[in-house]
Amino acid sequence: MATTKKPMGYYLTLVLLASLVFYVHGLEQRRAITTARLMSGWTVVVDPGHGGIDTGARGRSGVMEDDVVLQIAEKLKALLESEGVQVVMTRASDVDLAEPRTGHRQRDSLEKRVAIIRDGKADIAVSIHCNAVPSPQWSGAQVFYDGSRDDGSKLLAECTQAEITRLVGGTSRQASQKIDHFVLKNSNVPSITVEAGFLSNPREERLLAQQDYQRSFAWGIFSGLMKYALETAATVTGRGDSPR
Ligand SMILES: [Zn+2]
Repeated sequence: MATTKKPMGYYLTLVLLASLVFYVHGLEQRRAITTARLMSGWTVVVDPGHGGIDTGARGRSGVMEDDVVLQIAEKLKALLESEGVQVVMTRASDVDLAEPRTGHRQRDSLEKRVAIIRDGKADIAVSIHCNAVPSPQWSGAQVFYDGSRDDGSKLLAECTQAEITRLVGGTSRQASQKIDHFVLKNSNVPSITVEAGFLSNPREERLLAQQDYQRSFAWGIFSGLMKYALETAATVTGRGDSPR
């Protein structure tokens, strides 16, 4: 069977397509590097909720909120540090931040977290929790902020919610200010509380205990913070300087 000789235009098209692929790939890489550099030099406080005697919520299979949020926080810390971000953890192990035998243990723990955010001269703060309600039906990660503040917390919450939804999925929830959280109210920098999902939902309880899911969730938060850095730089300075 005779083979038909392909016209020169065919080969030219192939070369052009390959060049286009390399060009787009290069753009993506440059964009990722530029975005990451925006946060280089920032200080981010990562606040895993609860700890020690205060285990937080508990799923039906026994998964504890304080364990899950610490594991997600550690993974988020590693991602941020790999991009030159200074990370201050409010707790790095299973400890109770409150003074022993204090009469207001929970309040004491929350005040310590706020002090760490303030003393750490943070650029932003991220608290991580899990939800739990009596019904097993409810599910979906959600990001909260204090709506009485005009310091970027809302934008930070929206960016993080968007990236968790895009990269992790399993939620159609929107960033919300319907929360009464001491840390959000008393922090002095843009701050959010990420509710990573419902431990009262059996499917989410199972997922939240998995290392791979925690890793992907940490990546969702990380990507949200980068999106915030990119949007803040574009609107505030127009040059890409890191906002303070
Ligand atoms: Zn909690």
